[in-house]
Amino acid sequence: MANAPQMDVISPFTGMAVGQVPDYTPQEAQQAIERSVAAFAQWRHTTAYERADLLRRFYDLMMRDQQEIARTIALEMGKPVTEALGEVKYAASFIEWYAEEAKRLFGTLVPSQAAHKRLLVTLEPVGPVYAITPWNFPAAMATRKVGPALAAGCTIILKAAERSPMTAFKLSALWAEAGGPEDTFIVLTTSQAAALTQVMMNDTRIRKISFTGSTAVGRELAAQAAPTLKRVSLELGGHAPYLVFADADIDQAVRDVVACKFRNAGQTCVSTNRIYVERHIAADFSAKLTQAVAALKVGDPLDPDTQIGPVVSKAGLEKVERHVADARQKGAEVLTGGEALEGLLYAPTVLSRVTPDMLVMQEETFGPVAPVQVFDDEAQAIALANNTEYGLSAYVWTRDLARAFRVTEALEYGIVGLNDPLPSTAQAPFGGVKQSGYGREGGPWGLEEYVNTKYVSVGIK
Ligand code: NAP
Repeated sequence: MANAPQMDVISPFTGMAVGQVPDYTPQEAQQAIERSVAAFAQWRHTTAYERADLLRRFYDLMMRDQQEIARTIALEMGKPVTEALGEVKYAASFIEWYAEEAKRLFGTLVPSQAAHKRLLVTLEPVGPVYAITPWNFPAAMATRKVGPALAAGCTIILKAAERSPMTAFKLSALWAEAGGPEDTFIVLTTSQAAALTQVMMNDTRIRKISFTGSTAVGRELAAQAAPTLKRVSLELGGHAPYLVFADADIDQAVRDVVACKFRNAGQTCVSTNRIYVERHIAADFSAKLTQAVAALKVGDPLDPDTQIGPVVSKAGLEKVERHVADARQKGAEVLTGGEALEGLLYAPTVLSRVTPDMLVMQEETFGPVAPVQVFDDEAQAIALANNTEYGLSAYVWTRDLARAFRVTEALEYGIVGLNDPLPSTAQAPFGGVKQSGYGREGGPWGLEEYVNTKYVSVGIK
């Protein structure tokens, strides 16, 4: 696979090439499968302690190179470098956590119904895994899959996104430096994602698909995985509501919505897309939010003071512009922002007088736009929040304990942040319901995705 043609990686901020990566073909995907299968035959027999040591070293190396990895992320997909550093630490925390958890893949001795039998249940690696990641978190979306897969004793082939492929190669190089055996973690980059993926789907030796990306592609992959009955995990799109009740700490809710909505310029699956505020605090909330958003510093992702970088592509920018134009045309008021700046930068935006028929309230905008709609009571707030095909994350702001339970229980979502805008962490389950997919990443739930349960019934007559 050494002589693959190269493709340019383009910075969304400068429009210039910032590096090159191989453009692998379906033939090379087949070679990757052969290598991964061969490596699995050895890797599956390593002890949990060996795997844990290697993962721990991998974590240490990620922390050693955190600045360089953050800079790569900023260069290739435009995330502000200070925020990218946060992503690297978050990404590394999955490697650290699964280094520890590898040692706790316990089996079970089940009480037997007969004196002459012993019933053993063990957990075994599912086999070689094929993982596909999106461009918006090039380090974290990779380690959430690579960490548990390697900890469980699986080998993994990672197809990184075309728009942010360089970070994945940095990670696989660090795994090799840590002593990770050859071909246990292979990175593929390509301009032919569908064709290369079909090779993986056709091969029965690839036992598991783990995908993070859009719902449309996730549906296609689930169908393609069916003929060979691969296990499938899908982390798909979101359309997160953010409910602010009148009894909330408004200043805190405003600070937190900025963190939740505007990180990565709004290009995060768990970013809130729909802010619902109880009517009699809505004017105050919107005024404070507008002030906070207008103060965000937009610009060069490599400047440590930048808070909002470019959106990732021209298509991404056009979607943001289309959503804001549609909202304006249907009667929304632009309280700040509402315009494209130079290149792929878009001014952080707050919209008020928003209604459910606007595109911003119906689709993922994936940009720095915060639409605020009012509600009158708890039942309406819950109905509005659940009125979507997505079910990844939702947020609730209230200081009333009974309401907190009622509302969090009523929300049809995999993750709820209750007075918390950033719930995701390595030891907790991350994943959605409805059209946001199935399967979980993080914690012991993330490891279960990569093991099969084996039952051995032992006669001891
Ligand atoms: P996408 O278009 O679905 O792409 C995701 C990945 O799938 C990329 O690696 C892409 O390759 C690949 N891909 C695209 N079409 C494919 C096909 N037909 N067969 C095989 N692979 C294919 O999504 P995106 O625009 O990059 O990412 C944004 C989406 O991801 C949003 O909907 C966001 O909500 C979601 N997301 C979800 C989570 C979560 O945990 N639930 C986390 C982050 C993002 P190329 O890059 O080469 O096209």
